[in-house]
Amino acid sequence: MASVSEYFGCLSFDDSAMRERLPRETYKSLRKTIDEGKSLDINVANIVANAMKDWAIEKGCTHFTHWFQPLSGVTAEKHDSFISPIADGKIIMEFSGKELVRGESDASSFPSGGLRATFEARGYTAWDPTSYAFIKNKTLCIPTAFCSYGGEALDKKTPLLRSMEALNRQAMRILRLFDPHTNVACVRTSVGAEQEYFLIDKNDYDKRRDLLFTGRTLFGAKPTKGEEMGDHYFGTIKPRVEAFMQDLDENLWKLGILAKTEHNEVAPAQHELAPIFTQANIAADHNQLIMEMMQKIAKQHGLVCILHEKPFAGLSGSGKHNNWSIATNTGVNLLTPGETPYENAQFLLFLVAVIQAVDDYQDLLRISVASAGNDHRLGANEAPPAVVSMFLGDELTAIINALETETHYDPKEPTQLKLGVHVLPKLPKDSTDRNRTSPFAFTGNKFEFRMLGSANSIADTNIMLNTAVAESLRQFADKLEGAEDFNGSLNTLIRDTIRAHKRIIFNGNGYDDAWIKEAVEERGLLNLKSTPECLPYLLSERNVRLFADHRVFMKAELRSRHEICLENYCKTLHIEAATMVDMVRRDILPAVSAYVREICETASAKKGFSELLNTDYEFELANRLNGLAVEIHRAAAELNRMIPEVDRISDVLDKANGYLNKILPVMKELRGYCDEAEIHTAAKYWPFPTYTELLYGVR
Ligand code: ADP
Ligand code: MG
Repeated sequence: MASVSEYFGCLSFDDSAMRERLPRETYKSLRKTIDEGKSLDINVANIVANAMKDWAIEKGCTHFTHWFQPLSGVTAEKHDSFISPIADGKIIMEFSGKELVRGESDASSFPSGGLRATFEARGYTAWDPTSYAFIKNKTLCIPTAFCSYGGEALDKKTPLLRSMEALNRQAMRILRLFDPHTNVACVRTSVGAEQEYFLIDKNDYDKRRDLLFTGRTLFGAKPTKGEEMGDHYFGTIKPRVEAFMQDLDENLWKLGILAKTEHNEVAPAQHELAPIFTQANIAADHNQLIMEMMQKIAKQHGLVCILHEKPFAGLSGSGKHNNWSIATNTGVNLLTPGETPYENAQFLLFLVAVIQAVDDYQDLLRISVASAGNDHRLGANEAPPAVVSMFLGDELTAIINALETETHYDPKEPTQLKLGVHVLPKLPKDSTDRNRTSPFAFTGNKFEFRMLGSANSIADTNIMLNTAVAESLRQFADKLEGAEDFNGSLNTLIRDTIRAHKRIIFNGNGYDDAWIKEAVEERGLLNLKSTPECLPYLLSERNVRLFADHRVFMKAELRSRHEICLENYCKTLHIEAATMVDMVRRDILPAVSAYVREICETASAKKGFSELLNTDYEFELANRLNGLAVEIHRAAAELNRMIPEVDRISDVLDKANGYLNKILPVMKELRGYCDEAEIHTAAKYWPFPTYTELLYGVR
């Protein structure tokens, strides 16, 4: 078998494939487009398309597709074959530059949140040459952005690219202030997304309609052994899981995805995959492919990969960590604390830009991870809370404090700089972060945002983050560009920014109730526990202005996203509630009744045999289960009655609030009765696999 270095990227039309297959001039001009965003000539596109097609056909492809990320959150593709008729009923395989660069698609079946009504139904896809084309299922996939004919974004990639551009514009202004002759051509956002997931046996999965329809268990008593022993985290990987991981890695490597780390996570049956970081839009594409591959490969191993944020109540949910940094095209990470005072001042300016951005736009970060599934994590007592705060580590916090109060940071090194900024001591790498409870942590040379749910697209978070940081940098550049005394102004700016935004910095335990109280009551931070609570902030005047100023979203685009997110929330809860009613009526109540009958028959047999036989056990159990059945029946009927009532609400925000405040509490109540019934019902009667079977079923 070929070695990894031989087959890595063999299904990706990457730099080496381009270099090998494109004429020198074409390659150079395509690289210019990729590296510097120069627009692409149609003649160049024709040559690239042809080379891509030949490459794909050699690898067995017959079709191509523009691959994109509509607002439904998953990826979409529409396959066209390469065939083109010529004379005599023959065909040739063809692929033109026009087909590569732009595709037409009927946008009307994708969620557009009202944009469709305002604009044309047709949409088009536009090639993103910075993300390499790849082969999946014998189809050449071309990563694209998806827009309406009016240019409104109908996907997640378009605004992500716009936000990267916004950040680039402002960061370049700052870099030129520090060095007017800088050789940096552009800055880019880098992202590494760690992905958590559960793996369970497909036979067990197939027996549960809740998993099938909603991705999570709507019922299930706690297993007698959960994650309390902490023996799963980084534990030995079971052979079946290991075979899956190897297969997954191999498939990802072929696609040129830098899958790096695979390990077990905290909960039983929970695992994680982390790739090596890359440019944000590519990382977003890759994360979608990783999720897709995980599900596909799992099936081939008789497993199911669950990406839901909270598949099992009472156990850790699954998240995604978005590791984020900004780097120059010359390879300098702007979030690396430097060794010279000069670099330090620049580092500190970028650091405080992020601090200000996170404080100013907490709401947007929260919104970027809003979904019915993720609400179970953020609103509940687990990592991380819904309150956004930042962890800097003791050392950096001490430096920030010293800058704020204009005292020396280290009495042993009281050097004061010309710049007026204190010397930042060389930070030992890895000294900073071991705080796992912080939603937003500085980890040595990058920030790690941990509020994402496992199923979220990482595009949303990076759109918000890039735009918010671009705004801080814009304000900074506006102030510094006109300054007479650059160093003095820089010093004041850093100090004032810390003073204004230090409330967002918190190094303690983020799960602690006392922190939530302090955060909200003393620091005035937002605690937006649910999707319907946070979504209205998306349309606040300052957020609308922010996105317009940086040309990331127009107001209509924001409105459409607001609506789609709330619609998804309602649909998710609708399906969950309806599935609950269905499972209660067709599975749970019949099982409980049958078991009660058996108990009663046993009791009457005993009494028939001899009046002297004690039937206390049978009586108590039958009585208890019968009581639960009555409650289950009542709560299910109530839920069933309320679903259409809430669905009738026409305003989407009101409807989402209806689901949150009316439906969810009844679902919770109903589940409580059912889980208790499960504990008391004989195993052979219970109609579907329990938590123990699901979580320990893969051996
Ligand atoms: P952990 O959070 O488990 O300690 P690691 O330190 O191994 O994880 O890194 C997690 C992720 O951060 C990986 O995907 C890694 O590639 C990514 N990463 C490392 N450096 C950067 C950077 N400068 N910018 C963005 N992501 C980065
Ligand atoms: Mg991490």
